[in-house]
Amino acid sequence: MRKAARSSPWPRGARCAVMLTFDFDAESLWLARDPGAAGRPGVMSQGRYGARVGVPRLLALLAAERVRATFFVPGWVAENHPAEARAIRDAGHEIGHHGYRHDWADPADPASERAAFEQGMKALGTVLDVRPRGFRAPAWELTPITLDLVREHGMVYSSNLMDDVLPYVHPGQPPVVELPVQWVLDDAPYFLMHPRLAPRPMQSPEAVFGIWRDEFLGCHEWGGLFDLTCHPQVIGHPSRLLMLRRLIRLVRRKRDVWWATAGEVAEHWLRRPGR
Ligand SMILES: [Zn+2]
Repeated sequence: MRKAARSSPWPRGARCAVMLTFDFDAESLWLARDPGAAGRPGVMSQGRYGARVGVPRLLALLAAERVRATFFVPGWVAENHPAEARAIRDAGHEIGHHGYRHDWADPADPASERAAFEQGMKALGTVLDVRPRGFRAPAWELTPITLDLVREHGMVYSSNLMDDVLPYVHPGQPPVVELPVQWVLDDAPYFLMHPRLAPRPMQSPEAVFGIWRDEFLGCHEWGGLFDLTCHPQVIGHPSRLLMLRRLIRLVRRKRDVWWATAGEVAEHWLRRPGR
């Protein structure tokens, strides 16, 4: 195997960076797909599972494995599940902005996008006393004004686009770092299922473990950023949490990995000499 030509972009010569992110969407995920879901207790219960079971179980797992993660929390979820949102914050995890009611931004309606963005910010401030450092758009849907909103609110990163395996800085001032995501590293395409609103076959945790393991090993070889996106209501089931724990332990066995929150990766990228 040929050695990488360039030196590591990561702290202390780490080979790659790993950040675990969790989008705490709860019921808002379903309300955004179908406002009528509010009158369907079965649909809403899928989202509520994330708050009732997913978050506490995840926090226990992350504490046991001594991993700090980033949770992207819609403002509506902070207002409706304040105890769980505070438990995330109080466990030392980063809280990021994830819209208000998981509204999918529409490029043709910038006024509504701005209103939802500001309402989400306000809710995180009121409920959690947090000023987020970064933004993950619901469904990763950006519009031409989204990065302007990110800058206006003093944030330093976006984690939404799929065009690299390394962070990069968007053109414009002040600088905003992109922390790229990938569908292959999202739990939803494999596991999120509803017969009408998300009709897809579910995958086995074993199959997904294999995909994520190989993505990590490849990312480690390439020296990239492994940015895993999970959802408490999706990953927070027994078989899947066991799989996630297995993955964390596999990554742990590599000594030259930088574990970081999204905010830490962004701050590091901004401080790199010669950026
Ligand atoms: Zn989401």
